[in-house]
This record gives sequence, C-alpha cells and structure tokens, in this order.
Amino acid sequence: MSHTAVSAASLASKPRVAPKFTRAGARGCAHSRSSAVKVTAAKGDVLLEVKDLTAKVAETGEEILTGVTLTIKEGETHAIMGKNGSGKSTFTKVLVGHPSYEVTGGTATFRGQDLFAMEPEERARTGLFLSFQSPIEVPGVSNTDFLRMMCNERRKSRGEPELDPLEFYGFLTPKLEQLNMDPSFLARNVNEGFSGGEKKRNEILQLAVMESEMSILDEIDSGLDVDALRDVAAAVNVLKEGDKGLLLITHYQRLLDAIHPDFVHVMQKGKIVQTGDVSIAAKLEEGGFEALTAK
Ligand code: ADP
Ligand code: MG
Repeated sequence: MSHTAVSAASLASKPRVAPKFTRAGARGCAHSRSSAVKVTAAKGDVLLEVKDLTAKVAETGEEILTGVTLTIKEGETHAIMGKNGSGKSTFTKVLVGHPSYEVTGGTATFRGQDLFAMEPEERARTGLFLSFQSPIEVPGVSNTDFLRMMCNERRKSRGEPELDPLEFYGFLTPKLEQLNMDPSFLARNVNEGFSGGEKKRNEILQLAVMESEMSILDEIDSGLDVDALRDVAAAVNVLKEGDKGLLLITHYQRLLDAIHPDFVHVMQKGKIVQTGDVSIAAKLEEGGFEALTAK
C-alpha cells in the first residue's frame, strides 16, 4: 500500500479530523518568503539537485534507480521520457519519500536542503508536490474539505490562520476559474467515480491550492482525450508561471507540444541517458527509444 493510500485510509475513516498527511505537497500552500521552513533559494537558483541517485525496492532489494543525475532551476520546465519500467515513477516517489523504496546512494537537495534528511511532510512544506500517476479515490471525504485541509496544513506551517469554509471558497473560486474547472467538482468525494480526465484535473487543482515551488507531474496526460489534454496542459501552463519549477513525466510528445519544456531527458534502466531540448521528443515519436539511444 502506498503512503498516499495509507493517509487516504485514515482520512476515510475519520473524515472530519485533519489527517497527518504524508503526501508530498499535502502540507501547506506557502511561498518561501513567509514559510516557517528556512530556505535559501533566490531567483534563478537551483531548486532540485540530484546526483548519482541509486535506490532499491525496500521489500525485495531490487535496484531500480542506478544513478540519476538531474538539476532543475527556478522557472525551468523539465520532462523525463522513457519506456515503461525504466524507473520514472520510482524516481518521483523516491524524491517525495515513498516508503516502498530505499535510497542506497547519491544525494538530492531541494532548495539547498538535504531532501533525504527530511520527512515526507517536511519536503512538502518546503514546496515539493507530486501528482501521482494513478490518483487514489477517498470515499466519504468531500473534495472541498480535502483541499481545505491541504491548504490549512500549509498555512499553519507558515504561521497563518486557517481558512474557514467560506474563506476557503473565496480563495478557491478564482483558481477554479483560472483553471477552467467546474465547481461541481468540489461537492463530490475525492476522486470517487471521477473519470480519468477528472482525476487529472483534480490533481491540477490540488497543485493550484498548494502553490508549491516545484511540481512533479507523473503522466498527467495518460488516458486523456484531446479536449481534456488541452485543458490540463493549459492549466499546467498557468501554474508554471513565474519561478516555479516543473518536472513532467510523459510518454507523448503531444503534452510537450503544449507545455514546451526547457529540457527533455530520456530515462533508461534507472538513469538518465540523454538530455536535450524538445527535439528529442520528436525523434522519439519517429523512431522510438531504440533509435534515440542507439550509439
Ligand atoms: P516507469 O514509471 O518508468 O514505467 P516504474 O518506476 O514504475 O517505471 O518501475 C520501474 C521498475 O521498478 C519496474 O520494473 C517495476 O516493476 C519496478 N518497481 C517499481 N516499484 C516497485 C515496487 N514497489 N515493488 C516491486 N517492483 C517495483
Ligand atoms: Mg510510471
């Protein structure tokens, strides 16, 4: 069971009690300037710096990440592409502290702080958000309550008063409009009965509520039809404005056409084997990963 599923289970059983979130990004929607967490980043600074990261599955000992090196600066959008099973999702989950994996070597800093010395919720407080490839359903918890809890956790972490339901509605309404999302989302239970596209939109809404400095979106485009993809891409483009860092995991060029990453990386067997601009994605579309990585 993933740590998200664990926190979801505790949420579902105690819907009116603020849960201990373990999901990255689930704690507080702070900007660094007013955050209680000490950060040193300034404009143009490095947000995420990963060096020679290796990690294994905790239970089986199988090594999945074999030496990932990646640097993302403020304002940059990066994409990682790669075959199924190359380790993309594992990389993102290791970054946010998923308990299924064990870091065996290398380093990772986020905004100058040692990522692996922080609890998952601390990583979230410093502004790291992960949108999961398969968002889970949380029956019995209304979406609006869930979003408000996320937001209030982050407000608490920066010493701000919590928003009551009415105040939160005021905070959320412009975001819904900005993201072109239907307010009927709010009354429903978290992801329950949502279509694939609705779940992805809901992830983007969480991202908007968190106002995280760095967002990792794992296959935000999978299972979307053309219209939903366009809306999600437009919403992501709104959210990446300013100094925000963005890491997209995707199989398809069509998302990259809409989001225009600054760098595209190819992951193979647990490490990044190639980095370039968006033309890499076009080559992939033509010849597949073999053509790209053939020496
Ligand atoms: P990608 O996202 O690139 O498709 P993943 O990171 O999901 O790849 O998986 C990489 C490899 O690690 C796959 O072979 C997958 O089966 C394995 N793996 C990932 N997580 C686990 C886990 N919790 N237990 C066992 N194997 C895992
Ligand atoms: Mg994956």
